[in-house]
Amino acid sequence: MKTVLKNGMVVVGGVLCRTDVVIENGKISGLSTAQDADETIDCTGHIVMPGVVDAHCHIKLDTGGFQTPDDWRAGSKEAAMGGITSVIDFVGPMPGESLKHALDQRLLEAKDSAVDYTFHMTALDARPETLREIEACRSWGLTSLKLYTTYRPNYYLDDASILEILKVASRCGLVTLIHCENDAIVTEEGQRHADEDVWRSYPERRPAIAEEEAAARMVALARYAGAKIVVAHNSSSETARYVGKARREGMEVYNETAPQYLFLNDGNNHHDREAWRYILQPPLRSASHNAALCRALLEGDVSFVITDHCAYTRDQKIHGMAGGTPGGLPGLETLLPLTASVPGMTWPDVARLLCENPCRVYGLWGKKGALLPGFDADVVVLKDACYTVDERKLCGFAGYSPFDGHAARGQVVHVLRRGEKIVSEGVFCEGAWTRGAFIHI
Ligand SMILES: [Zn+2]
Repeated sequence: MKTVLKNGMVVVGGVLCRTDVVIENGKISGLSTAQDADETIDCTGHIVMPGVVDAHCHIKLDTGGFQTPDDWRAGSKEAAMGGITSVIDFVGPMPGESLKHALDQRLLEAKDSAVDYTFHMTALDARPETLREIEACRSWGLTSLKLYTTYRPNYYLDDASILEILKVASRCGLVTLIHCENDAIVTEEGQRHADEDVWRSYPERRPAIAEEEAAARMVALARYAGAKIVVAHNSSSETARYVGKARREGMEVYNETAPQYLFLNDGNNHHDREAWRYILQPPLRSASHNAALCRALLEGDVSFVITDHCAYTRDQKIHGMAGGTPGGLPGLETLLPLTASVPGMTWPDVARLLCENPCRVYGLWGKKGALLPGFDADVVVLKDACYTVDERKLCGFAGYSPFDGHAARGQVVHVLRRGEKIVSEGVFCEGAWTRGAFIHI
């Protein structure tokens, strides 16, 4: 089977150039004109870029306290509609559960996926049996771990445990993604603001300095352990500057941010009528952080952009449950068009931040992340048009978007996953379900 994407403006090697993309047996076979194709897709006037790799999302999330009501059919459809062809989701073992058992369960759930997938393995403790299973992660095809510096009692890890895990990760060639917030600061600020409206005071309950302290401490522990880390959902521009500087000095420390930290801010919590839309951890910061993080994306102080997608519904957010309002926002469909709308952003920048960089950090490069011969033919064809996000037009399971009304750029026309069309003329192809595959690295 040979497919040719004809006459598009193709993002390759950091530039846009007019060429054809030839696909054979699910892989890119060349960038040149080809005559004898089985299928030709006319891309005249369109941008052709690598499929987006969302390196941090939560489809069918179960935190123990809260569950998102989606599944891998719903989640992967949302991803595909947003130009995402691969996701790195999470394995979240319950306390005491074997990591391998939790991975096997997650692999079963993800079988319905339309897009390709892999996982970060969450480590909740540094017991000897956990460390032994961490050592086995590479043999299971995984390349990364996830740790938390906050959320007692289940997720929180102290420095000694983190150091033990980082040393094993370093020895085994694993990258460690770390949720950085100082637990003592968020505990104290939570108590200080206990009598105030939770939605309105959410940013003050988890201040930027909590992230900045924990991120700096994790960079130091990584330096000591010789480990490769990623600072998760970087919300503070101070954190970005600090991590960017450490990276330029030669450390393998990376950071990800998300559209919510680029376009939303604490004013949304303080003033919007529906402040429930803006509950997430870390919380939204001031508008000055938005602008500085947008600049940091273009200046190289942020490594890549992710969704941190959680499909909690409007009802779950408004009514909460025993523990309050679940934190997390939907974002799979809006990641690409929002990232592209950052002032000064070019399509090669978008491909670097959404495709190339996450693949290089997590070991997917060579398979995913670029339109180069030998790579999987994961491709997005889009129209370079500006529009406004309208939550009623999204297919998302959450039923709302915190980005409703925001400027967006790039309308997805076709999406191919390993050469197979999963979105055609802006419509999801239901035959794509169950055909996504685990990316064994
Ligand atoms: Zn997350």
